[in-house]
Amino acid sequence: MVPVISHWINGRAVEVSPEQTGPVFNPATGEVIARVPRGGAPEIEAAVAAARKAFPAWRDTPLIARSAIFFAYRELCWKHREEMARLITRDHGKTYPDALAEVTRGLETVEFACGLPVQLAGMNTPNVSTNVDVHTLRQPLGVAAGITPFNFPAMVPMWIYPIALMCGNTFIWKPSSHTPGATQLQAELWKQASLPDGVFNVVYGGREAVDAILNNPGVDAIQFVGSTAVGRMVHERGVKAGKRVGCYTGAKNAMVVLPDADMELAADSAVAAGYGSAGERCMAQSLVIAVGDSGDRLRPLMEERIAKLKIGPGTEPGMDMGPIYSAEHRESIIKWIDKGVAEGAELVVDGRPFRHPTSPNGFFLGVTLFDHVKPEMTIYQEEIFGPVLGMVRTATYDEALTLINSHKYGNGTAIFTTNGGAARHFELEVDVPMIGVNVPIPVPAGYLSFGGTRASVFADLQMRGEDSIRFFTKQKEVTVRWPKPGKQGPLSLVFPGNK
Ligand code: NAD
Repeated sequence: MVPVISHWINGRAVEVSPEQTGPVFNPATGEVIARVPRGGAPEIEAAVAAARKAFPAWRDTPLIARSAIFFAYRELCWKHREEMARLITRDHGKTYPDALAEVTRGLETVEFACGLPVQLAGMNTPNVSTNVDVHTLRQPLGVAAGITPFNFPAMVPMWIYPIALMCGNTFIWKPSSHTPGATQLQAELWKQASLPDGVFNVVYGGREAVDAILNNPGVDAIQFVGSTAVGRMVHERGVKAGKRVGCYTGAKNAMVVLPDADMELAADSAVAAGYGSAGERCMAQSLVIAVGDSGDRLRPLMEERIAKLKIGPGTEPGMDMGPIYSAEHRESIIKWIDKGVAEGAELVVDGRPFRHPTSPNGFFLGVTLFDHVKPEMTIYQEEIFGPVLGMVRTATYDEALTLINSHKYGNGTAIFTTNGGAARHFELEVDVPMIGVNVPIPVPAGYLSFGGTRASVFADLQMRGEDSIRFFTKQKEVTVRWPKPGKQGPLSLVFPGNK
């Protein structure tokens, strides 16, 4: 019997019968390690009821008292970070050091939220008119939901719920069913941190649970992170239902390598950003745009590095890359590689034949490198979300820039150069919001905002940082008159002026 994971509603585990569950796999072994609930409308309704009940008291909890709970939660997460990382490696497959780095990066946003009382201060403008002052209030929306992907089971939710909660909202988390271990632990740590019951709830499930969130009028706001197709749907339906919605979606990031770049650094960066976490990062680099002769110099350096990569269970020390997170996704990546070959890209390194010697049932795949990828190929256009890198050759920087700016996706990008002027112009000209200069994975620090453009986002604001505070609060402007006692002016029907 494998353990059956429970929903977390109103501060306690809500058990389900095994028939209402699906399997959770360890991708390194292919074994079923747990069963996860398939929640739907009844569970979402229970979570919304708990969150609505908890909302008034949580909204009215003094900021510094909320902050104290956040400090306690941060300490508990730090204390349990190795356990959390082990659970992430077990469920997702990424290497243990990579999982540990994920937890640490997620905690940056929890730490930002600890200090939110300062950020939540409104403006006060005295004397906007005679005897009249204006001040702004930021108030929570009510119940917020976070719908998150499999690839960062701690970091991405930690980009959402700390700010939603610290702004005074109560929360429902609909995580990915593939990676429930870290989710359970986060719920339990909130309880240990003395977060009041009902403020933080977890409902597992897929489409039915998301439908229930979209259909429930008790949910005021949704932040979604996941694929473009689902994010587009969540945004359309959520907005139509009158909710505040931000969806952060798929990607196909490209790094430009200019001929004057430090080629050793560019090769390290392309291999690390292309194949780290098996390419299952929304900020992975999946295209290298090599300008002029840089491709001829870069490619052998990349091949050298690729030959030395160690692929195996993420729990084994020294591994560079773990398995793909699911058997189905492994098959879909193989189909993309087949397609790249059929479309005429040059297959330099083929990851398809890779088999792990001692873990034959694990969902392992080797790394793949294509060269001479062309913009009309589907492996150029579509997100593969696996360890597949494509090199595109262009004659000029302008061609490279046009390619990036006209791609369907725009999440992150990078330029590799030793020329400050070239880097500066790239920053100004590229139409992608997260940019690295000699930095391949330019995920901004956890207290700054994060988000893409075009098909990588369906939102008016970025997530995290200042934008998330705006997202999770409603702003009021209060105009206040306090005439000097006995000095009230005469009655006037004229529209009030400010002079
Ligand atoms: P996904 O879209 O399959 O799943 C995301 C969430 O939506 C999960 O909670 C899932 O249970 C739910 N879901 C899946 N199918 C659904 C459906 N048909 N109807 C309703 N809900 C559904 O994404 P994934 O495979 O878990 O994650 C990978 C994707 O996430 C990639 O496209 C990646 O680029 C993207 N991603 C984006 C960012 C970002 O910040 N832009 C960050 C991480 C991942």
